[in-house]
Amino acid sequence: MKFPKDKRLTRQRKVILEALRSVKTHPTADEVYDMVRQELPKISLGTVYRNLEVLSEMGFIQKLEMAGLQKRFDGNPEPHYHIRCLNCGCVRDVDVEMNLDMMEKNMSGFLVHGYRLEFFGICPDCQTSVG
Ligand SMILES: [Zn+2]
Ligand SMILES: [Zn+2]
Repeated sequence: MKFPKDKRLTRQRKVILEALRSVKTHPTADEVYDMVRQELPKISLGTVYRNLEVLSEMGFIQKLEMAGLQKRFDGNPEPHYHIRCLNCGCVRDVDVEMNLDMMEKNMSGFLVHGYRLEFFGICPDCQTSVG
């Protein structure tokens, strides 16, 4: 995939970034599109999508790719972990400390460039509605 050479924080990108930072729900591109349409009535879903890709490339946001699921976006670019509800699909932040130094000893001699860790379970809302 090619990124535009122009990586300025345009107005469109600012609106998208602010929308994303105002929520903790880790929305999909479609959800971000719904969030910014009022302020950017002429924007298309494709443009929102492209700007989300550029913003994550620029390091302002994080792209969450979860196996077999729609990509989600996170206004918090700092490394942190996520947990996904198997029932409703919501994604939330989890506050856990991982000891990477210890993990790297067991990587079969690989030089580790990154990792993807995904927790899943049943969120508090779904637990109460099931119970
Ligand atoms: Zn749930
Ligand atoms: Zn997050």
